Amino acid sequence: MTDSATEESRRTNATHEHGWLTESSHQTSEGRVLYVRCAQCGVRRVDLQPHPLLPPRSLSRVQGR
Ligand SMILES: [Zn+2]
Repeated sequence: MTDSATEESRRTNATHEHGWLTESSHQTSEGRVLYVRCAQCGVRRVDLQPHPLLPPRSLSRVQGR
């Protein structure tokens, strides 16, 4: 049942750079936590941006659905 879905997501991951959209974010003592989702394949990631002038870094591995 899940075989074709796995196949599909592998192919999707191989053929595009994830285009992360921020779904929500909140400020913590460590910086800004960003909940992002790829607009193309729907995978989610959590990023931490320690400072507004620094790029966010990934807190979590990319998770499939
Ligand atoms: Zn993607």
